[in-house]
Amino acid sequence: MNITDHNTNGVPYLACDGFAAAGGVVHAFSTRLGGVSSGIWSSMNLGTTRGDDPACVRENYHRFFTAVGADETRIVMSNQIHSSIVRTVTSADVKPDLYAEEADEADGLVTDVPGVALVVFSADCLPVLLYDPVRRVAAAVHAGWRGTAAGIVECAVEKMTRHYGCRAENILAAIGPGISACCFETHEDVPDAMKQAIGSAALPLIRPLESGKFLVDLKGINAVRLTHAGLARGHIAVSGDCTACLPEKYWSHRVTQGRRGSQIAVIQLL
Ligand SMILES: [Zn+2]
Repeated sequence: MNITDHNTNGVPYLACDGFAAAGGVVHAFSTRLGGVSSGIWSSMNLGTTRGDDPACVRENYHRFFTAVGADETRIVMSNQIHSSIVRTVTSADVKPDLYAEEADEADGLVTDVPGVALVVFSADCLPVLLYDPVRRVAAAVHAGWRGTAAGIVECAVEKMTRHYGCRAENILAAIGPGISACCFETHEDVPDAMKQAIGSAALPLIRPLESGKFLVDLKGINAVRLTHAGLARGHIAVSGDCTACLPEKYWSHRVTQGRRGSQIAVIQLL
């Protein structure tokens, strides 16, 4: 499976060919391009808490959801807190309005309800989408380094198998654009947390630098965690795009020092 670039009506986005081939679902990863916001939010800002003009954000949602074929009136999202909390959601969790107050803290959402659009935000952290085309269950996950260390992707797979009866070997995973091994330079705390989480499997994904710092491959660590959860290697697609390397295409929290909009990943069962 691969994650490739698409463009519909002037709105660029990324999608996984394996999800499209399986059918029964729409999904996409946004970029910062193709929207109407200006300044630091130029132009496809889909973050509702970044200080952007709500009228622009609403128009961006309309453009993006129209381009990818998802329903912008059926969105579920969360207050993301870098946890391993995964919520199972239904139509009852759909936001009445994009700017309605968001009470629930979580970094993963799972549903088996067609039409419910699961949304996670990111700008360096990894957006991860999961889809079981057999049991027809979808999940959206936000995995920063803390969530990665806490096992958010394994928690999402466990919700899919325990709560919805999915079989791990049927689940497809797409790890979207995020900060990559080229740019994710950290102190010891990050590699230590990864080694504690997955043991020696983390070692090939951590590169010590002469400065005493480390480069950490968060995408690789999440891919390993997904295989530990029972997914087949061939069912895991990883985007090659690094948000820190491509400032014209993505917001990077690090590169912008927090003055930025947000990308989203969305998945919706048909
Ligand atoms: Zn990079």
